[in-house]
Amino acid sequence: MLRVRLSSCRQPYTPSFRHFSSSRPHQKQRLVIIGSGWGGYPLLRGVDKKHWDVTVVSPTNYFNFTPLLASCAVGTLEFRSAIEPVRRYTPQVTAYQAWCDSIDWTRRVIECTPATPSPPWSDKSEPDKFTLRWDKLVIAAGAYSQTFGIPGVKEHAHFLKDVKDARAIRTRILECFEQAMQPTMSDVERRNLLNFCIVGGGPTGVEFAAELHDLLHAEFAVHYPSLAKLAKITIYDVAPSILGSFNRNLVEYAEKTFSRDGISILTSHHVERVEAGKMFVKQQGEVPFGLLVWSTGLAPNPLISSITHLKKDVGAKSLLTNDHLNVIGATDGAADPDVWAIGDCAQITGAILPATAQVANQKARYLAKILNKLARNPDHQAQPFKFENQGSLAYLGNWKAIYDTDKDKLLGPESGRVAWLLWRSAYFTMTLSLRNKILVPMYWFLNWIFGRDITRF
Ligand SMILES: Cc1cc2nc3c(=O)[nH]c(=O)nc-3n(C[C@H](O)[C@H](O)[C@H](O)COP(=O)(O)OP(=O)(O)OC[C@H]3O[C@@H](n4cnc5c(N)ncnc54)[C@H](O)[C@@H]3O)c2cc1C
Repeated sequence: MLRVRLSSCRQPYTPSFRHFSSSRPHQKQRLVIIGSGWGGYPLLRGVDKKHWDVTVVSPTNYFNFTPLLASCAVGTLEFRSAIEPVRRYTPQVTAYQAWCDSIDWTRRVIECTPATPSPPWSDKSEPDKFTLRWDKLVIAAGAYSQTFGIPGVKEHAHFLKDVKDARAIRTRILECFEQAMQPTMSDVERRNLLNFCIVGGGPTGVEFAAELHDLLHAEFAVHYPSLAKLAKITIYDVAPSILGSFNRNLVEYAEKTFSRDGISILTSHHVERVEAGKMFVKQQGEVPFGLLVWSTGLAPNPLISSITHLKKDVGAKSLLTNDHLNVIGATDGAADPDVWAIGDCAQITGAILPATAQVANQKARYLAKILNKLARNPDHQAQPFKFENQGSLAYLGNWKAIYDTDKDKLLGPESGRVAWLLWRSAYFTMTLSLRNKILVPMYWFLNWIFGRDITRF
């Protein structure tokens, strides 16, 4: 679930911070990476640990393979196949499970709060903060989920950004069915519990709706036959159409597929307020739900909001960088040669790219190459970053998908089974470790043969 850390991000630097750095001797330069997502983790993998003393700071000790989270949320894949442990690289890397609260640019330290609880013998409610010194710093802290300040969303909706969110959603879906099964439930209560609402018609909302549809029409139709008929999936969006970034023909294909599969799409609908088990939609009034999944884009990370002296984009969601991904001073406009920003918390001045794993991953690999060259030759002059668009994919359920790409590519925009094959092969190829390259197809195969696991524990 969304973790709001505004208070800690406002925490000023105080001398009570304890200073730590790697225990290794410092003939190597200290590279500190903030975040272990699509920006931080591929960088951690790619950077030459023989030349850099690498420290990663992240509140999770794993990397989320986000494109597979919707599959995990319905049991098509097991949770462990969509994450990679950050500690795979220890002892070459020092990893702290902690939040970076703020950056002290003068002292070149980051100020952190452990993301682990205080030890049981401590009488402090918060664990001791600490600082880390850097020679080179990479900011890859990503973004938060956007709620537009709509009351009740943070409290009563589920987000889908982390494997923990996928687990909470899976538990809730099963809970809704078991609750609805109770003999004490009225038909109205059953329908309310089995009303699954998704707010946000972007690729994440659409893929979750599709995966949920597969679960309802495969396993739940067999194991809860009377209830599966009552279940309803609805996608809400304020925009006039879903999948705004996809080509119009593909959007129409997705809409037709969803309409045939019984997934409702309510565009130009505004959610005004959310309460426990119900939301209030301007065009519909009160809508009871069993599960509400919220996926309406990105809000700035509080760490990025706490940075005031660097250039940001319109709306101040992301740090602006030059085309070598170095951050830029807000007043002097000068690029900082020792600090980079990548992923959802960064944009290149004049070349705004979508906030996707594809972009974050390409920037991370570019930066790893630069850092490896800089370690051998501090005067290395790098080429600017160039994004190679490999197209966009979205799963639509029932072994169908859409694939959008530039017209001049060999394989043009595709829909249906061919796109589904591309979708599966793309994510199988992108899966990072050998372990997950074995686990992901294995779970696809096992669930195809035996069905998804529907136990709740
Ligand atoms: C469900 C879902 C499906 C997606 N599917 C696709 C897809 O199919 N294709 C695609 O291209 N993109 C997809 N995306 C988008 C993609 O995941 C993001 O664009 C990508 O994760 C951005 O990478 P990032 O490293 O900037 O941020 P993240 O991957 O979000 O990582 C940010 C990291 O920073 C850490 N962090 C946050 N705050 C702090 C702090 N204060 N201190 C230290 N660490 C911090 C976080 O814990 C995390 O480790 C999807 C996103 C979601 C949520």
